[in-house]
Amino acid sequence: MFDIKTELTTNPKEKPASEVLGFGHYFSDHMFVLDYTEGIGWHDARIVPYQPITLDPSAMIFHYGQSVFEGLKAYVTVDKQALLFRPEQNFRRLNRSNERLCIPTIDEELALEGLKQLVSVDREWIPSAPGTSLYIRPFIIATEPNLGVHPSKKYQFIIIMSPSGSYYKEGINPVKIMVEEQFVRAVKGGTGEAKTGGNYASALKGQEIASREGYAQTLWLDGKGNKNIEEVGSMNIFFKINGTVVTPALNGSILPGITRDSMLHVLKSKGVPVEERNISIDEVVEAYNNGTLEEVFGTGTAAVISPVGELKYLGDKMIINEGKIGEISQMLYETLTGIQYGFIEDTFGWTIRL
Ligand SMILES: *Cc1c(COP(=O)(O)O)cnc(C)c1O
Repeated sequence: MFDIKTELTTNPKEKPASEVLGFGHYFSDHMFVLDYTEGIGWHDARIVPYQPITLDPSAMIFHYGQSVFEGLKAYVTVDKQALLFRPEQNFRRLNRSNERLCIPTIDEELALEGLKQLVSVDREWIPSAPGTSLYIRPFIIATEPNLGVHPSKKYQFIIIMSPSGSYYKEGINPVKIMVEEQFVRAVKGGTGEAKTGGNYASALKGQEIASREGYAQTLWLDGKGNKNIEEVGSMNIFFKINGTVVTPALNGSILPGITRDSMLHVLKSKGVPVEERNISIDEVVEAYNNGTLEEVFGTGTAAVISPVGELKYLGDKMIINEGKIGEISQMLYETLTGIQYGFIEDTFGWTIRL
C-alpha cells in the first residue's frame, strides 16, 4: 500500500554484547527517512543504511528549535517474536506535538508501516537478554536553510533505533527525588504537552542542581503557584494515598505518557481505586505526616516504573515505604513488562507482533 524503498547496508556493524549496551550508545544498521517539501507534502519514504545527515548551517532546527520526537521500544518475546507496544499511540502523539510546533502532520499509517519494516530489517538488533530492548526514536527536524522566524518549509522525519540494556540490572531500586522550587518545566499554554527538545533543554538546570545534591531527578511543580505537582524528570508521577492511586490530571502542561495511560487501564482492570486530578505538594506532605502516603512512583517507556524512595522538599526529607518498592508499583511493573515480553496474555490489545 505504501511505497517504501529499501537500500540495505553493504557494511553491517558488529552487534554489541548485552552487558555493555547501556542507553543510547549504539545504533542499528538502518534508519527510516521521509522528507517534507512545501507544495509537495511528505515524500520519498525510504529505509537506508544508518548514516550522518548533512544540513546547511542555516537549517532552521539549529536556530529556533522546531523539532519533535517520540520514544518507544521493540521487545523479543519469550516465544522469540518481535513485539511493539502501542506504537500507533506514539505516532498519534507525534502528530499532536507537530500541531503545537507548526510542523505538518504525518500519515500515521505510513509511519507505522515504515517502523514495522525498519524493525523487520533490523530484527537481529533487538537484544534478547532479560530486560533488554530495542529503543526506537522517531523525530522530525526543520531543515529549511533560512534565518527568518517562521515555520520551516522543509522537514525530515527520521526513525533511528538503539539496542538498550536492562534498566534494572540489580533489581528495582527506588530513587531519591528533589522537589524543584525555583525552576519550572512547563506552563499552561506552553509546550509542556508536546514532546519537543526545548522542554528538555530547559529542564537540564533543575536536573543538574538535583544531581549535584545526590538526587536522581527533579519533581516539577506547576509554573504558576509552584504548588500543584506535574511530573518527575521525564516521567509521569503517581501517588498511593490511603489505598487510592492519584496522578495529576492532564492539564495542558503535562506530557500525556503512554505508560501513564497504560497504568491507569491496568489499575482500573484490577479494581484499584484511581483518581486523575490536581494534587498539590502540600497534600503529599500532609499525607506523609499523617502516615497515609503509601507509594510514589514515576512511569515512562524507559524504566516502565521508577519507585520513589525519598522526596526532598523545602529541606525536609520524606522517606516513602521505608525506601522500598511498594505492592502496587511491583504489580504494575510485572503486568506491563509481562505484556511487553509476552509472559502475560495481552487482554488490552496493546501489542503488535511482527
Ligand atoms: C516521554 C515523556 C514521558 C513519558 O511518556 P511515555 O509515553 O510513557 O514514555 C513523560 N514525561 C515527559 C516530559 C516525557 O517527555
